Amino acid sequence: MTMLKEGRPTAPQAVNEADSAPATVTGNRALMLEEALIFEIGSTDTTGVDFAEAPKVASRLGNLARTDGIGLPGLSEQETVRHYTRLSRQNYAIDLGLFPLGSCTMKHNPRLNEKVARMPGFADLHPLAPQSTVQGALAVIHELAQWLVTLTGMHSVAMSPKAGAHGELCGLLAIRSALEARGDARSVILVPESAHGTNPATAAFCGYKVEDIPATPDGRVDLEALKARLGPDVAAVMITNPNTCGLFEREMKTISDAVHAAGAFVYCDGANFNAIVGRVRPGDLGVDAMHINLHKTFSTPHGGGGPGSGPVVLSEALTPFAPLPFVEKQGDRFVLVEEETVEDHHASSFGRMVAFHGQMGMFTRALTYILSHGADGLRQVASDAVLNANYILRSLDDVLDAPFGGSGPCMHEALFSDKGLAEGFTTLDIAKGLIDEGFHPMTMYFPLVVHGAMLVEPTETESKAALDQFILALRSLAERAKAGDEALKGAPYFAPRRRLDETLAARKPVLTWTEGALAQAAE
Ligand SMILES: *Cc1c(COP(=O)(O)O)cnc(C)c1O
Repeated sequence: MTMLKEGRPTAPQAVNEADSAPATVTGNRALMLEEALIFEIGSTDTTGVDFAEAPKVASRLGNLARTDGIGLPGLSEQETVRHYTRLSRQNYAIDLGLFPLGSCTMKHNPRLNEKVARMPGFADLHPLAPQSTVQGALAVIHELAQWLVTLTGMHSVAMSPKAGAHGELCGLLAIRSALEARGDARSVILVPESAHGTNPATAAFCGYKVEDIPATPDGRVDLEALKARLGPDVAAVMITNPNTCGLFEREMKTISDAVHAAGAFVYCDGANFNAIVGRVRPGDLGVDAMHINLHKTFSTPHGGGGPGSGPVVLSEALTPFAPLPFVEKQGDRFVLVEEETVEDHHASSFGRMVAFHGQMGMFTRALTYILSHGADGLRQVASDAVLNANYILRSLDDVLDAPFGGSGPCMHEALFSDKGLAEGFTTLDIAKGLIDEGFHPMTMYFPLVVHGAMLVEPTETESKAALDQFILALRSLAERAKAGDEALKGAPYFAPRRRLDETLAARKPVLTWTEGALAQAAE
């Protein structure tokens, strides 16, 4: 191991044997800087800030009081800033380039949203501030709620869920409460094969048995199979529309009617609302509950674990069971309705999803986005997102297999399979090749109904020039994978790390550059 200065290890060059370029002493490669763990560059006996010795006071924790340090590394301010800046430069971001992750709707986060969310009147609020002092914030929640109800054609909205999956939980809890209220607890939730993993996970978490509904050869829910399975034990059907194959479920109204006739509810996964916002109202299609990912459709930032925001719109039948709290306009005042007044409002509320009101910062961002686009602008969002996806589909369907391309245009995402790649070449090779071309890979191996799926969602915010460059890159990789170009199997060559054994990396992550860990990894 090379030591630049005492106690400061640098990464061995062995990790970067990317190509035939000569190794550097530091492990750095021009602007690509190596960075050790913060525990390796800092030490417990240094500090960036000098504090006065804490006064000795008797502990009120008895023998629970800590007697030793907890081993946090100390660094100067500059070392700290550099550490995190260097790490951030090893990452890819929507602000760096196209992020074609299908199902994720990774669109530009307008700076205006950020500016409004940072206004002190919003950013510095305390969730327990007296309501008379936060009327503006309550008005924002109320106005956003009105937009969501109007855009979806639903009856009410629960604003507090903190992400899509949390919204699914909220919707299923409302459905369960409604069924229990009529003395008809049921045990099964039906989920299409192509569903996002959170759907069956949420249903199972709620204690339901999950059963698959098969797909038709054209990538949609098999209506006959669904009808045949409906019965007195089915509580709800969870359907994604547009679905995860990027197709609109044309039979949605027929599906809802059949589900309702069997006494069950329709949960719609609204993660793909971006494709139909301003054009289709899920309420008209018989949906009872649907989450809206503000961090997808309404351009609030996401990735890296959060924050998200997943308000759930509800039908009239489910509204009495909605979670607390909610904001109501009483005369010219906005009131946060809490448990105390429950009799007057959501008479059968199932309780609370979160401690306070939800993701306030996401509400301000989403409402800013909505108001800056206006109703006509939101409608345009859906059209442009669909146009961009179809441009990608038709620009590549001569080199990549588009399993549902024959059945007409797609919605907001283009789906390809690995059919036709040379023997031994996979979707993973193409994804890794995209990294070398400077793109985040598309969603891969999802949905499961397509072999070696590549799901590409460009969103409406990409220019034609950006799409053309991406198409050029993906086309060249598809051609190489079809021609059996062995070099592709070594990609990525130019990333901070080469191709990892992903299973091993997840199970036994090597996070440190100590010699022992490296030796172990080499075994
Ligand atoms: C993103 C997504 C979800 C889950 O939403 P989170 O906000 O990530 O919890 C559910 N279903 C589909 C189809 C999605 O794309």
